[in-house]
Amino acid sequence: MPDLKKRYSQWMQGRYGGNDKLNLFLLGAFLVLIVIAALLQLRILDIPAFLVLIYAYYRILSKNIEARVAENQKFELGLEKVFGIFQSPEKKSARRIYRIFPCPQCGQKLRIPKGHGKVSVTCPKCHKEFMKRS
Ligand SMILES: [Zn+2]
Repeated sequence: MPDLKKRYSQWMQGRYGGNDKLNLFLLGAFLVLIVIAALLQLRILDIPAFLVLIYAYYRILSKNIEARVAENQKFELGLEKVFGIFQSPEKKSARRIYRIFPCPQCGQKLRIPKGHGKVSVTCPKCHKEFMKRS
């Protein structure tokens, strides 16, 4: 078993993993669609349901981490526009103060304070050290 786990993490190395709000939404949408399809016996809904699932898996296995993070940020920004009235002002300003980006080695989401020029960042997950403009 530990060997399998190791092989899995090796295979997932450098992949996005899909641990974000957009994937949560996609998987939720998939479940809602298949439940509605089953309850109303609308087999036609299986098609969008599986397209949504394929997209979610595509994002999980994607190696283009920058693009996936940008996608999720766009989605979260859209969510903020829709639910902005329910959000606390502190949370709103956090995005302006911090730069959020993925670790170039493992894809872990990191955040650094903006406006400090080039800073040295150490990833808390894989301990890779690199320079980033803040
Ligand atoms: Zn890392």
